Amino acid sequence: MSDIQTRKRILTGDRPTGKLHLGHYIGSHRHRLAFQEQYECFFLVADLHMLTTKPDKESILAISDNARSIVMDHLAIGIDPKTATFCLQSAIHETYELQLLISSLITVERLLQLPTIKDMAAAANMEQIPYNLLGYPVLQAADILLPRANLVPVGKDNESHVELTRQIARRFNNAYGEVFPLPEAYVVGGTLVGTDGQAKMSKSLDNAIFLTDDAATVRRRVNGMYTDPNRVSADVPGRVEGNPVFIYHDFFNPNKAEVEDLKSRYLTGKVGDVEVKEKLANALNNFLDPIRERRAKYEAETGIVDELLYEGTLRAREEAKATLLAAKQAMGLAGVWNRISRGAERRRKKAEAAI
Ligand code: ATP
Ligand code: MG
Repeated sequence: MSDIQTRKRILTGDRPTGKLHLGHYIGSHRHRLAFQEQYECFFLVADLHMLTTKPDKESILAISDNARSIVMDHLAIGIDPKTATFCLQSAIHETYELQLLISSLITVERLLQLPTIKDMAAAANMEQIPYNLLGYPVLQAADILLPRANLVPVGKDNESHVELTRQIARRFNNAYGEVFPLPEAYVVGGTLVGTDGQAKMSKSLDNAIFLTDDAATVRRRVNGMYTDPNRVSADVPGRVEGNPVFIYHDFFNPNKAEVEDLKSRYLTGKVGDVEVKEKLANALNNFLDPIRERRAKYEAETGIVDELLYEGTLRAREEAKATLLAAKQAMGLAGVWNRISRGAERRRKKAEAAI
């Protein structure tokens, strides 16, 4: 068995709603770079999840391009296409089936208690909760259980969904027989503030720096950043704590001595925002440069993203097919249709023989 087959497996993913920004990188994708060294990684383009809050035709028509840009973003940050499995959720038909089969193992009350569901409905300006949004954690359980993932990296707010998956898996195994390994949540984190100082960088708030932004765009974005609103000039002592420019410096500027120097001068009114921002723009562009280079390299390989997503989905389907069959066999469902069709076949043959 090759090394990759003996590794523990990770499943994680993204809704194909747009390209990735620095917030995604800090909150999630930087951890994927570390994980790929030790785990076999399945990266799911979760388009069925997108339908929970964005079922409109326009969003659906944008899935292909968004899926491509997400896979490209992964390659650009340094995810290894030789070991990663990229897969498209809506093309893994076993997902729909397993979601339904496991849905008897969880109650509506239990799902309604999850704060995430109500938060998502509120964020999407939904007054009522659609059936698929309520069932979103059950769909997530199907995503995790089909490839028999061992580890699921999630933000703190999504930890409860992995707990729910474990509950479903445990109940299934008790009721029908041991099929599913119990996945563990791996809480990753870090939230990046927006360039406007809002709590979260978010593509819909127009406060994001994208991994695809060029150097001039980054510079312009940084120049427009929110800093300390009470600081009217460079000689006024400023606030470092909670100041977005210093939060970004801490995350993205590897020159710690420079950052400490800027902070101490800022606190004592000895440096202007202009210098702090200029150094930040440099640091961000230095951070993004290798990402840009990798992107250019992969972009020159026309069709590579489609190929990876295609091959990865076929591979994920194989895994899903085997797991679903095992689940149906354990449940006793697998043979039902076979028995009925064999019975019908016997009768047909008998009728034919009598002629
Ligand atoms: P939208 O504006 O459409 O909500 P978004 O830019 O907020 O988009 P999401 O698709 O909501 O991005 O984010 C998906 C996941 O990416 C989140 O669950 C979180 O793990 C991570 N993420 C997004 N933005 C940030 C951020 N600013 N800081 C840390 N993590 C983030
Ligand atoms: Mg969001």
